[in-house]
Amino acid sequence: MKKKEIFLASFLLAILALLSAYFSYLTNTHTKKELNKMNEKTTFSVIENTPLFKKEYGKQYEQIVLREESHFLAEVNRFLDLNYEPEEINQIYAFLRRANIEKLLDSEKRNVKEYYSISNFDVDKIHRYEEYQRTHNCNLKEAVLKVNIGLDHDFYTQIEEIENKSDFTVLVNKYHSLGEYEPTDLKPLSYDAKYQLREQARNAFEELVSAAKLENVSIRPYSAYRSYEYQTSLYDKYVARDGKDVADTYSARPGHSEHQTGLAVDVWSEGFHEITKTDAKWLEENSYKYGFIVRYTKENKNITGYIEEPWHLRYLGRDIALDVYEKKIAYDEYYDLYLK
Ligand SMILES: [Zn+2]
Repeated sequence: MKKKEIFLASFLLAILALLSAYFSYLTNTHTKKELNKMNEKTTFSVIENTPLFKKEYGKQYEQIVLREESHFLAEVNRFLDLNYEPEEINQIYAFLRRANIEKLLDSEKRNVKEYYSISNFDVDKIHRYEEYQRTHNCNLKEAVLKVNIGLDHDFYTQIEEIENKSDFTVLVNKYHSLGEYEPTDLKPLSYDAKYQLREQARNAFEELVSAAKLENVSIRPYSAYRSYEYQTSLYDKYVARDGKDVADTYSARPGHSEHQTGLAVDVWSEGFHEITKTDAKWLEENSYKYGFIVRYTKENKNITGYIEEPWHLRYLGRDIALDVYEKKIAYDEYYDLYLK
């Protein structure tokens, strides 16, 4: 055989091997699923000998997969009273969050079938999801995400006060306020002590600056922690200069700035009053290695309500910064999908 034919033959063999491995994987998981099904106990076997047993639901109990959750049996009765089908009850317990289950038990029967695959769905927001989907012509998954962020309401409306203000993962945006929160572990940056970040973010930032320097990227901080009072004076100044609508696109209202967390820093290129394109590109591709993300991009400006800010870095810690970087989504979306 010629070289080319040998190559082709071995290529085909490799494909065949891969395919057969894939099929055996499929059949294997299938059998495992079947086995699990056989081992599943139904609610009937347990509820039968308890005072919760209701004769009229005998048939339904047999079709409901037993769960270990406390109060499960009592809840099954409640769901059956509300006219849920056994299969629906199985799906509800298999897919929905605890908070949703409790809300369902507390209301009239609702059709939540289409939400089973949407993990961040919230029963309380069903009307808003439907309305958003109708007015924005998008799929349900997107509607859930957008509504959860708050985007069906105008920025700076329906504002909630943040509970986990000192968490490294705290979400601060136009719907979530820090109030007059002040971090307790601010430390000065080595570049100039007038700039401060929380200790862990400070150390990570120093590391980032040194690493950048090794690759001929010289950056320096020009704004780091900002107190509630300072943000007030800054925002008022911008409003006086540009008007509220414009100021809102680049400056946060007091209580809504990431700078108030002590976890955000704005950087300029050394020798410039801006971040150069090359340096911005380096930050975009490398910040996550030190636990930072570029928080406001041109892709996410409709979600964050801010213009593209390649100079604004937000500390999240390495694991989450890497994950956000890889998923290429706004932190507001990431927070709703994975951290809430
Ligand atoms: Zn900033």
